[in-house]
Formats: sequence, C-alpha cells, structure tokens
Amino acid sequence: MIIILKPEATEEQIDMLKGEVTGHNLIIQEIRGETTSMIGLAGDTSMVSAETITRHEFVERVMKVSEPYKMASRRFHPQDTIVELPGGQRVGGGGLAVIAGPCSVESEEQILSIAREVKLSGATFLRGGAFKPRSSPYAFQGLGLDGLELLKIAREKTGLPIVTELMSPEHCEIFANDVDIIQIGARNMQNFSLLREVGSLGKPVLLKRGSSCTIDEMLQAADYLLVDGKSNVILCERGIRTFETATRNTLDISAVPVLKKRSHLPVVVDPSHATGHWDLVFPMAMAAVASGADGLMIEVHNHPEKALCDGQQSITPFLFDRLMQKIKKLHSVIIAEEESA
Ligand code: PEP
Ligand code: MN
Repeated sequence: MIIILKPEATEEQIDMLKGEVTGHNLIIQEIRGETTSMIGLAGDTSMVSAETITRHEFVERVMKVSEPYKMASRRFHPQDTIVELPGGQRVGGGGLAVIAGPCSVESEEQILSIAREVKLSGATFLRGGAFKPRSSPYAFQGLGLDGLELLKIAREKTGLPIVTELMSPEHCEIFANDVDIIQIGARNMQNFSLLREVGSLGKPVLLKRGSSCTIDEMLQAADYLLVDGKSNVILCERGIRTFETATRNTLDISAVPVLKKRSHLPVVVDPSHATGHWDLVFPMAMAAVASGADGLMIEVHNHPEKALCDGQQSITPFLFDRLMQKIKKLHSVIIAEEESA
C-alpha cells in the first residue's frame, strides 16, 4: 500500500499516521521528495483500511498495490490447482470437465434418463438442483432432500459424481456426506456466513459468479471458502447483468483468461445461465473451451418444453451429444497447440 501525502503534511501528522499503522507487522518506509512525500507499507495490509487513511486531510490518496484476495491468488500459489475427487475425477490440469444435467431434479425417471444419456455422451459430472433459488416464491422450488436422494440413485446407476446447490447452512452436514461437489449459486456468492460454513466442510465447492459481482469480488468470495485450508474451489463464470436484454445475462468470456491469470483455481463456464437460450449454448460452449476454460456446466433436459425450471435454456440429450463431439475435437486441437508451443 502506498500513501501519498499532501505537500503541507507536517512531521507530527506523518508520525501520527505511522503510529496508526504499526502493530500489523508491516515494513513502513517513508519517502520524502521536494514536492511529494509518501509512505510505503509492505507486508500483509489486509487489516489496514485505505478508506479510513484517506480521511486524514493531509493524505492525498492511497494506492493499493496487492490484490484484496490471498488464498485464491496465483501470486502465492503459482501452479494450477487440480480439484480431484476420491473417485479420481478431476477439474483442472488440462482435461475438460463437463457437468451436465437438468436445472432441477423433477422425478426419478427424469434424472435417471438424463444422467444415463449425458454419461454416454461423455459428461464427467451430473448436475441437478434439489434446492432451487427461484426469483419468484410461487415458482417450483425443487424437491429438496427428496431430490438429493434421487441424485444419489443416479450417481449409483451411472457412476457420475453429483454437483448440486446448497442454499442453507442447515443442510451443510447432509451435503458434506452426500454430495461430491457443493454448488454455491450466483445469488449466494456473497453470503459470507454460508461461505465460511461451507469452507469448513472440506469438500470441493463450485462457486458461481454473482450476477453483479466483479472478478475481484468473486476471488474474495473464494478466499472465504479457502481460508480454513480445508476446501477446494472451482470458479464458475455464468454471465453477468448488463444493459443488454437479448440474452438472460452477458457471458463475460474474458473472465476466463483473467481468472486464470489472477488465480490458480480451475475455471468452468455455464453457457446455459449466461445466455438463457438453448440455441446459444452451443456457440458459447465452444467459445468457453477456446478461451481456456477447464470445464463446462450445461443444462440438459429430456423434455425441455415440459421442464419445471429453465426449459428455455436446456438442450436435449441429442444436441448435448453433438455438442460433446464438437467440444472434444476443439479441446484436442487446443491441447495439441499448447503442447507444440
Ligand atoms: C443453477 O446452476 O442451477 C443456478 C441457479 O445457477 P446460478 O446460480 O448461476 O443462477
Ligand atoms: Mn437453471
């Protein structure tokens, strides 16, 4: 952190300021120029509030040099993190993880049929909401714990690990026992008490980007999950809210290389929620893979026109199969290109 002082700052004021920031184990360096003077703070400045320092009338401005997140930062962890499940399934590390399934679990017949079909096409994880965060309290809210039981049956029959959203701390223990990857949805990305609790479970977490959150905020949310040192995190770009209305959200495709530059955590893209239209899922999935994503999350429904949730953006198993063929080809070209570089 660099504190730029106004030319009229007095010795006493500078000493007072230095006194305020001591006690945080920081190296404090004063630089005096003819026209500008500044104080540099090196070390962990997370406990120092730049905003509060700016309130001193003799301070011109404060510049933050380091990122506001640590555990998620590539600076302290240069190698890519690979999230690996006890069964050996991975997210990150060069492969392409594909998390596919319906928006919500609706019945045993529905989840089993979709799970079997996406598995045949090459999906590596099964998704399905048991607890659904719906904007309207009158919309289908998911089957709850019954939905989780159905996901477990689908896992047993197909061998696909399950990814499902946790909305309430009361279900932490059940999810820790029964779910392979716990999803934190966009609406809960900044539910900090939930993040802390989920972070203490020691499970892999798929963290979806809040629809109005910046990349910095997303990585700070990841730090809440990582701070205990128990959990692993997969970041998920799922579109952000912009002025554009042609799509449900705007897929921030540049978030993929930005996240991969700033963080060691694997990044997956959800083109279904990002676009809100089934026919845009295919091109945006291709764009995600081309941009270097470690995986995709795709909504697939056997009868999208009858889906209880997000049918408009769900693709059929037939289209999913075609998508997988194209995606695999594109991914192998990208890997070959990276290897020859
Ligand atoms: C979902 O994946 O089911 C979901 C609700 O997504 P998001 O939190 O990104 O809106
Ligand atoms: Mn959905």
